[in-house]
Amino acid sequence: MSEFRKDSLRGTWVITENHRARQPREFRIDRQMPTITICPFCPGQESKTPLEVFALRPGNTKANEPGWQVRVVPNKFPILRIEGELSQQATGLNQSMRGIGAHEVIIETADHQRSMAQLEIAETTAVLMAYRARLLDLRQDPRFRYLQIFKNHGIEAGAPLPHSHSQLMAVPITPPVTRSELNICRRHFLANGKCLICDLLAEEIADGRRVVFNDGRFLVLAPYASCFPFELRLFPLQHSHDFALQNDQELADCAKALQDMLRRLHRLLADPPYNYILHTAPPIQARASKPGYWQTLASDYHWHIELVPRLSQIAGFEWGSGFFINPLPPEDAAHFLRETDPNLSF
Ligand SMILES: [Zn+2]
Ligand SMILES: [Zn+2]
Ligand SMILES: [Zn+2]
Repeated sequence: MSEFRKDSLRGTWVITENHRARQPREFRIDRQMPTITICPFCPGQESKTPLEVFALRPGNTKANEPGWQVRVVPNKFPILRIEGELSQQATGLNQSMRGIGAHEVIIETADHQRSMAQLEIAETTAVLMAYRARLLDLRQDPRFRYLQIFKNHGIEAGAPLPHSHSQLMAVPITPPVTRSELNICRRHFLANGKCLICDLLAEEIADGRRVVFNDGRFLVLAPYASCFPFELRLFPLQHSHDFALQNDQELADCAKALQDMLRRLHRLLADPPYNYILHTAPPIQARASKPGYWQTLASDYHWHIELVPRLSQIAGFEWGSGFFINPLPPEDAAHFLRETDPNLSF
């Protein structure tokens, strides 16, 4: 029998199929490989990107020259532009707002060949430090309601350029996914006086079937109501609403868990395409504009990273109903991932 399962963090239902045993190899896909001649993200090609807004340069090399470890540049073809005032318009029921925002690219390594799963933990920590630095900088701009950091890995996941990178979009409207999660967490806190995610993590640790990684600092699990096979979420075990407030040690601990998660996926599913998204609290000024609103945010929200391997297409029933059909129970996904050795070199 398949079953409907509710995601307590999203408030949505999925259909989990569990009527036949599926093997991980059934979910592997043939990857498309990009063909590019000159990569604008490689060292020596700095002039092919807009001027950098942040870089980690261990040798104190000059800006916009080689010698960087992580480099952040505005997107050359931004979806949203940083210049200008916000202005809202309405024609009848149709509302619009100027496409103000920021769109940046975080180039995660100078090495064109290695994907994020193949970086060292210290290199991944440096990427997380770049995320933190950009969040702290951009949140000073009162026009931005939310700063969304995400990574597309592979053409199938929306990354035509193979050089490992993530992106940041600063947007003037709180994204609906974020708003829904914040509201659900807030309601739980107001009703129970506790953080929903802290409560969820305690239940998941006690149950154990969906836990992939737990070193006492960070935890990776396959969500109970996963929409897709091998969907994963990564959480700090220490309650924290804001990724940007994590200290260097916490970022290093996060990098260790993130690396473990990516390596297991890479091994088990032959380097699958994926998206991951950082879910963290909105910047403070977005809350300060409404007195009394989200005063409990620091207690009721709990940042995390959500990862979805892009192994299948969304079909008509999913589009139409919002009910995703997951052919692999998350308990099986977690089992396969736990059995996978993340430490083999590749
Ligand atoms: Zn490159
Ligand atoms: Zn919490
Ligand atoms: Zn989330």
